[in-house]
Amino acid sequence: MGTNSRLKDKVALISGAASGIGAAHAKVFASEGAKVVIADIQEDKGSEVLNTITESGGEAIFINLDVTDKNAWNSCVMEALKAYGKLDILINNAGIFHPGGLEEETEEGWQKIMDINLKGVFLGMKACIKELKKTGNASIVNISSLYGIKGAPGSISYNVSKAGVHLATKAAALEYARLGVRINSIHPGQIITPIIANLTPEQDSAIKESIPMGRSGQPEEVAYTSLFLCSDEASYITGAQILVDGGWGAG
Ligand code: NAD
Repeated sequence: MGTNSRLKDKVALISGAASGIGAAHAKVFASEGAKVVIADIQEDKGSEVLNTITESGGEAIFINLDVTDKNAWNSCVMEALKAYGKLDILINNAGIFHPGGLEEETEEGWQKIMDINLKGVFLGMKACIKELKKTGNASIVNISSLYGIKGAPGSISYNVSKAGVHLATKAAALEYARLGVRINSIHPGQIITPIIANLTPEQDSAIKESIPMGRSGQPEEVAYTSLFLCSDEASYITGAQILVDGGWGAG
């Protein structure tokens, strides 16, 4: 691990941390001195992330968490407290994508995306907020999407779920602005992770043509944005949305 310490002694719970953007958060945060709770339904991949962190001298634990389950969230927070005694940071990152326009998407598909992407964020903030408030200097980052700000054809459920995360972030930020918890959202564009394997080839090439910087992003480029938001450097930032998208949302 690096010798940096922008999150020294902070405890960070990261949902969906077994893969992609969440795994990058876990590694970057641990390298900056945070004690990391890797929370995910994928035990094997979560253990790989855990091993990478501990082998580099960082501190982390893995907890099996299904973000759609209120009881699982409550026991996850209890386990985190048992391990590290407090909670300073929550990254609500777990999410899924499947393509589906108005005529193709099913009621079941809609519900599944809403449960994981939107209810999961609500339950996460709800389960963690009491402990976060206790620190007096806490931070939540909700991973929304550029698709939470602008519409896209062929992914109506995903669009709506991420727009919900966008406004849930602002609503909660206003509630806790004077209570020591800053709450912001990040809106990635196209980032190279397993989730984009679910794009149709047409969606994938349309996206690539639209990115002004001419390339997709790396998971670490999202994690470093969260690192800033969760550090004391961002002490006056709450209720904000930050696009990490190579300029895609600017046009
Ligand atoms: P990913 O598939 O690599 O990672 C998602 C993680 O969420 C996986 O580890 C998965 O096991 C976990 N997860 C799924 N359902 C879960 C559940 N019920 N409970 C707990 N964990 C669960 O994808 P990613 O690209 O790293 O996605 C991370 C977040 O970033 C998602 O919210 C996604 O919508 C968002 N995002 C990604 C992109 C992109 O282009 N990759 C763009 C915009 C937003």
